[in-house]
Amino acid sequence: MKKLKSAREIPIGTAIEDAGCSREYHTGSWRNFRPIHDKEKCVNCLTCWIYCPDGCVQVKDGKVVEFDLKYCKGCGICAEECPAKGKAITMVPEEKKE
Ligand code: SF4
Ligand code: SF4
Repeated sequence: MKKLKSAREIPIGTAIEDAGCSREYHTGSWRNFRPIHDKEKCVNCLTCWIYCPDGCVQVKDGKVVEFDLKYCKGCGICAEECPAKGKAITMVPEEKKE
């Protein structure tokens, strides 16, 4: 039976050469679903801002103003965690976004 490698034996697979280089990776280009924000239902608790793994939720003066779709990969975490009654974020298939 083949012996598995330890973590120390596995080569390093990536390197971050410049701080902030993730800005170059527009993960929104492969999104299947996009979040649609309902300002009427939103209570501006900022839970979505805290949970979004890509920092897409844009906040101004304590209120959600938009979702940066250049980086939103459509994971739906924001919609799942939104505590607003009736949910203030709905995930919609890209082909039905109109
Ligand atoms: S989690 Fe929902 S209610 Fe809270 S700020 Fe985001 S959209 Fe609004
Ligand atoms: S769908 Fe995912 S990546 Fe997009 S705004 Fe919500 S939490 Fe962020």
